[in-house]
Amino acid sequence: MLRSALLAASRSPQVRTMVEKFPPTHAIVERFVAGDRLDQGVSATETLVSSGRKVTLDHLGEDTKDAEQAAATALAYEHLLTALKETGLAADAEVSVKLSAVGQFLPVDGEKIALENARRICQAAADAGTTVTLDMEDHTTTDSTLGIARELRADFPWLGVVLQAYLRRTEADCRDLAHEGSRVRICKGAYKEPESVAFQGKREVDLAYVRALKVLMAGQGYPMVASHDPNMIKIAGQLAEWNRRDVTSFEYQMLFGIRPEEQLRLAEAGNTMRVYLPYGQEWYGYFMRRLAERPANLTFFLRAMATRG
Ligand SMILES: Cc1cc2nc3c(=O)[nH]c(=O)nc-3n(C[C@H](O)[C@H](O)[C@H](O)COP(=O)(O)OP(=O)(O)OC[C@H]3O[C@@H](n4cnc5c(N)ncnc54)[C@H](O)[C@@H]3O)c2cc1C
Repeated sequence: MLRSALLAASRSPQVRTMVEKFPPTHAIVERFVAGDRLDQGVSATETLVSSGRKVTLDHLGEDTKDAEQAAATALAYEHLLTALKETGLAADAEVSVKLSAVGQFLPVDGEKIALENARRICQAAADAGTTVTLDMEDHTTTDSTLGIARELRADFPWLGVVLQAYLRRTEADCRDLAHEGSRVRICKGAYKEPESVAFQGKREVDLAYVRALKVLMAGQGYPMVASHDPNMIKIAGQLAEWNRRDVTSFEYQMLFGIRPEEQLRLAEAGNTMRVYLPYGQEWYGYFMRRLAERPANLTFFLRAMATRG
């Protein structure tokens, strides 16, 4: 119930205005977001890299409604990738991109515009010597995102995609994408989805996550295990062992601000541990999904509201 309400609020302009105007919001958002500006994203990347972690940066934004904004987002990624190259961070930091931020939902030629903007970002990543992963949004975008990824991979074979274990289709998608050179980030899924397309309860989603992991770990690709769940992390490690994978053939990923001690433990044990690091002004949708994932985050937020001033 609560999760559904928060996910519905994540797409409501009215609630957005209310939350954005609430004075202590910024301090709370900082737990999950590096800051508003590019230099804050780069500086947080430096800190994470110096602690032995890798990074994937997200220039925040989604559901872009006009072509100029979509192009501006692609330009922001180009600036980011230039900054990563110039600061010597590109070997340890890649970028994550939401296709809806670069035009996928535009009513006229949305997919074409998103493809071209994503191509610019991939070219900038190639010039910087790093990679790109396409985030996955709600299920209405899955076919379009996988289609755009397929086209981009012809020129940028290192392009990664995200699959969401809660979708009933995902085990089959994992089989399609478990080939050599294929980078797949497997996460549980963060959107409100109908039962017709997605498993609903935690147990069902966890079992689906394990099935997806089994396919990816047994395949020839490069699995990116994106979860904070101790059980999923343990099972991923066991599956890697059973499939005789060495630590360079897969990686763990977690979100900035969530379970940092576990991030350090995994990195210190010799694993690749990559932190998903968002920065920018468009934090609202991302922040609301983090609240929806864990009721304790909401309590923290409400307590700050109650004690403000
Ligand atoms: C690197 C990365 C990239 C992602 N990209 C996408 C994407 O492209 N598309 C998409 O739909 N989803 C994405 N997600 C989000 C993902 O789908 C889940 O919603 C999120 O990771 C929570 O699931 P979990 O596997 O951690 O397990 P859960 O069962 O939700 O959580 C397990 C434990 O992790 C901790 N935890 C989880 N979430 C939080 C939180 N918000 N705050 C504090 N503690 C928490 C708690 O201790 C919790 O008990 C991504 C996640 C990661 C880590």
